[in-house]
Amino acid sequence: LGLIPTLRKYVQDFEEKTKIRSLFETRGKEHRLSSAMEAAIYRLIQEALTNAAKHAYPTYVLVEITYQAQLVKIVVQDNGLGFKPELFQQKSKDHGHFGLIGMRERVELLEGRMEIESAENQGTKIVIHIPTNVE
Ligand code: ATP
Ligand code: MG
Repeated sequence: LGLIPTLRKYVQDFEEKTKIRSLFETRGKEHRLSSAMEAAIYRLIQEALTNAAKHAYPTYVLVEITYQAQLVKIVVQDNGLGFKPELFQQKSKDHGHFGLIGMRERVELLEGRMEIESAENQGTKIVIHIPTNVE
């Protein structure tokens, strides 16, 4: 199964399990990526959704994948509690939370970038860009 059907199923299961209304959308022309890249994207989304369910108490999450010519863009958004991302993104900080650090490392290995926008009571939006022309 390709990335998109796998993710669609994952988001459906997430909704059933958590009772959080969950939307999955794709934009652009789907194309297969390397299996390493697809696996990495799956794990990124898994951790972002797990965090939303565990920490944010949202009523709604959105996962959006956009295929562009040489880029895939991933958005994971929730409307929950929000947090201060700068507190949890430095490896040097020994705070015992590794999910976001692991996500950032995974994105960097793929030469992509990850931005986290979050504000108290306004939810969290994670935006990841991964270049797909580098193999
Ligand atoms: P784990 O190592 O199991 O992932 P964790 O989930 O606590 O533990 P991170 O995924 O790195 O660690 O997240 C760090 C912290 O950032 C969380 O403890 C939580 O306080 C906050 N956080 C992360 N994602 C969200 C979110 N979507 N909404 C609100 N807070 C979040
Ligand atoms: Mg986590």
